[in-house]
Amino acid sequence: MVESEMEATVHRIRQSVREHSKWFEDSLPLIASENLVSPYAKELMISDFHSRYAEGLPGERYYEGNRWVDEVEIECLKLAQRVFRCNFADVRPISGTVANIAVLKALTEAGDRVGSCRLAEGGHISSASFGAFGIRGVKPVHYAWDPKLMQLDVDGTRRILLEERPKTCLFGLSLFLFPFPLKELAPTLQEIGARGWYDGAHVLGLIGGGQFQDPLHEGCTVLSASTHKTFPGPQHGIILGETQDEDIRKKLQSASFPGVTSNHHLHTMAGLAVALAEHLAFGEEYAKATIANARALGQGLQERGFEVLAADRGFTASHQVAVRVGKEGGGESAAKLLEKAGIVVNKNLLPGDKSPKFPEGLRLGSQELTRVGMGPSEMTRVAELIDAVLHQGRSPDEVREEVRELKRGFTTLRYCFAAGEAAYRYYDLVGLPSA
Ligand SMILES: *Cc1c(COP(=O)(O)O)cnc(C)c1O
Repeated sequence: MVESEMEATVHRIRQSVREHSKWFEDSLPLIASENLVSPYAKELMISDFHSRYAEGLPGERYYEGNRWVDEVEIECLKLAQRVFRCNFADVRPISGTVANIAVLKALTEAGDRVGSCRLAEGGHISSASFGAFGIRGVKPVHYAWDPKLMQLDVDGTRRILLEERPKTCLFGLSLFLFPFPLKELAPTLQEIGARGWYDGAHVLGLIGGGQFQDPLHEGCTVLSASTHKTFPGPQHGIILGETQDEDIRKKLQSASFPGVTSNHHLHTMAGLAVALAEHLAFGEEYAKATIANARALGQGLQERGFEVLAADRGFTASHQVAVRVGKEGGGESAAKLLEKAGIVVNKNLLPGDKSPKFPEGLRLGSQELTRVGMGPSEMTRVAELIDAVLHQGRSPDEVREEVRELKRGFTTLRYCFAAGEAAYRYYDLVGLPSA
């Protein structure tokens, strides 16, 4: 009885995942922190690597059976240093937040002050007191922000740094439109003896493609990131560095393991190695197309009466566009309405929002639609569909059909080897019978 009931449960779970995949297949995903992985990366995620442990570093493992894991991890480390033009990599953190906790463990002590951005100005929860900063017991020192430029205010931030003298300065954002003025701030960091640390979770793929900024050559020693936002790899984390300081390298390594991981998810590490190789082949072209698409989306929305942030600066220099939708009913209701039409976005706090509970913004990312081959003219069409729902009062169900129609022409994954339609259909790759 229980057996067949549970078998039915298993099939129900599988069915939910199938329906999810199908829904995404004919929708327009614009969540800025998501992406699609290539067929080869996906293949490795369902390999036997998923079943194993490899604590330690290649050649110095605690478990046996790691001969090929070592080969892959050594390759992964080499590729990471090549893609990001640096001399240190650790691919064991299993997510961006875990990478950040490792860096905090390696570079800071409880009670330290650490420079960071406020949440309302785009900072990530891992730099909040109720997030990773709190776990480490460090206190944020917030930079000055220029809401018109949507970047740090250099003079104001200099003053704050000289006064507060944090030992570590974190530069990272989740609402990330423009590069940080790192070169301008570098002399101040030097003056107060602070180490620069860059959180590139959102923009890693753009950095790898050489189209955003190069933090490890603009005054930061360490770069931590997720590997699945603009960098189109498996959900994982990474720490990169440019330093000859053996002490720092050792500290980062021991913070990764045994500090914040035991198992480091070998299947995603192998997928990451593939994604890194593919990024060397296609990253530049992909990053350029992603940024051009974000700009086209910003333009298309502005032309249709939306209040797109940083219009004077061309809306964005990243994959993201930020739109204030106060007059459209606020971020929450706008995002819900768009979801009904198959346009997937998230509500987002914007600088100047009156309450963190009622974000006035929407954050949109162009990277996933770029990966399936869309270009600027499709971005204009996306803006039209958003306008139809939020301004023209068209029924989301009706617009849903037009969304399906638009998406139908884009089912092939680009910027990877073995590009193909199968990339969209995860469950087909597994080859199990359908429910
Ligand atoms: C997404 C994000 C992270 C955390 O990434 P996960 O991989 O989800 O843990 C860290 N920092 C910033 C700035 C982010 O946007």
